Amino acid sequence: MKKSLLMIHTGNGKGKTTAALGLAFRAVGHGFKVSVIQFIKGGRRSGEIETAARLSDLIDFNVTGRGFTWQSDDLEKDAALARKAWETAKEKIRSGRYRLVILDEMTYLFKYGMLDEDEVIEFLADRPESVHIVITGRSASEKLCAAADLVTEMNAVKHPFASGISAQKGIEY
Ligand code: ATP
Ligand code: MG
Repeated sequence: MKKSLLMIHTGNGKGKTTAALGLAFRAVGHGFKVSVIQFIKGGRRSGEIETAARLSDLIDFNVTGRGFTWQSDDLEKDAALARKAWETAKEKIRSGRYRLVILDEMTYLFKYGMLDEDEVIEFLADRPESVHIVITGRSASEKLCAAADLVTEMNAVKHPFASGISAQKGIEY
């Protein structure tokens, strides 16, 4: 039986975004088109943006937002960008053009009240039958997890940041 899945990668350990990108790597191999929407822009230009640019006929990569919310000087601007990004995501999902849509770091938008979680859950429940969704981000709510078909919690057993080792190119970004 074929079924489109709603998948959540959450938890405090490393691997949420990269596991989602791993799924993109897998899906592309089957000829599926993939769309990635990164709701929070990292401080550095990530390797995945460059890779996606080389595969632009297969992977549609969108970076939105202005960086991490706890560094923000204008939360209203962030919220407006988040809503706009969600409108873009909805269009991509509705179009049915993409077999896999990755909503990266989306949970933070719920946490900071920038997006209505109920609206998102409702929309996703009504998405086209062919579209798999991955949502990543820490602290996925019980409600979101209940709506999903698959939830993986990354658990931080050890992370180099704790030993004062800074973010490494090609690993962290
Ligand atoms: P990745 O993109 O490497 O898969 P992630 O998506 O699970 O990581 P995020 O919560 O999006 O992690 O955080 C982004 C950055 O924070 C990454 O550079 C990641 O390495 C780092 N990070 C993740 N987990 C931890 C942790 N437990 N302690 C410190 N830094 C972390
Ligand atoms: Mg991430």
